[in-house]
Amino acid sequence: MGHGPNGRLQGGRGGGRLSDVKWSFRIARVLGIEVRLHLTFLMLLAFYAWKGWAASGQMAGALLGILLPGTIFGCVLLHEFGHVLMARHFGIRTRDVTLLPIGGVARLESTGETPRQELAIALAGPAVNLVIAAVAGVFVLVSRIPTTPIDPVTGAGSFATWLIASNLFLLGFNLIPAFPMDGGRVLRALLTMRRDRVWATRVAAGIGQALAIALALAGMLALHQPMLLFIALFVWMGASQEAEAVSTSAHLDGVPVRKAMMTEFRSVSPFDTLGDVSQLVLAGFQHDFPVVSADELVGLLLRDDLFPALRERGPDTVVGDVMRRSFAVATPDEPVERMLRRSQFEDGPSSIPVLEGGRLVGLVTAENVGEYVMLSAALTGRRR
Ligand SMILES: [Zn+2]
Repeated sequence: MGHGPNGRLQGGRGGGRLSDVKWSFRIARVLGIEVRLHLTFLMLLAFYAWKGWAASGQMAGALLGILLPGTIFGCVLLHEFGHVLMARHFGIRTRDVTLLPIGGVARLESTGETPRQELAIALAGPAVNLVIAAVAGVFVLVSRIPTTPIDPVTGAGSFATWLIASNLFLLGFNLIPAFPMDGGRVLRALLTMRRDRVWATRVAAGIGQALAIALALAGMLALHQPMLLFIALFVWMGASQEAEAVSTSAHLDGVPVRKAMMTEFRSVSPFDTLGDVSQLVLAGFQHDFPVVSADELVGLLLRDDLFPALRERGPDTVVGDVMRRSFAVATPDEPVERMLRRSQFEDGPSSIPVLEGGRLVGLVTAENVGEYVMLSAALTGRRR
């Protein structure tokens, strides 16, 4: 069940760091994009191999047990690359693609800058499954092989027919018009063309949550399928995440960095010692400090670097030896959302110095963007 592009990158969630998906490891680099595999996915393959072996009593059964789910995940990977390549066509970068037992996740820098782009990116994934099904369909028609799908236990039947059925299932599942499926993105893009994006997201996420409840009830009461509970949980979390992200992004919509940046903050000199800076931290100043020399920004001292350096090198070490020299900066007129997306995508420090004409005029941190969002939410709540 491929889903994606995943919206985690969107919405400028107050600088939430974008670390790798837990328990996943890198298996390949395709078209410059890291492909990762989740550990549970290997466990699932082992389970199917064992099941195939147990049912048939033969090695061939075990191999078939791996081949079929392996093929599905190959199709899911191609599906994700459908999204990735369409996004690339619009100049949107992809961080990585992770295969989970429940489907694939492509982490894009943005799900599309306009509803039209979002629509094209969302449809590109399912389109891949349609193409695979069509190619296999032509093969079945031309070769006139048996048309019953392959039996996972006996191995009798047609692989091509099974491939058609699997891809049509992936197509259908992904086009369900609810978040977090691609169909939810299609629905949101179409609704955004008529009304605003927040409302459109609420509708698509609401359908997703209703669907999750229905799946969970069906799994528990009627069908006795514990797998449905998993899918229900996944749909629920995806839908809620999307709804939350968009309400954050609504408050940041069109807001320039200038409005959300801190202007009261401390900078340090490259010749200050770590002992001096730790006093500033204790005194309650910000976590990360811009390093300024002769009115020029020369570095960034992160709290994450400060404490290990204090421990290993002692309090007399100077800032210049520990500071980062390469980091993202922002301009006051840049939209906050775009800046956050960029910095999350690059996985840089969560504090970003703001420069105007080469001069340091502000500092943006995850906390103060979060506070800006809360403040803005409180003010709009009052106005109603
Ligand atoms: Zn998809």
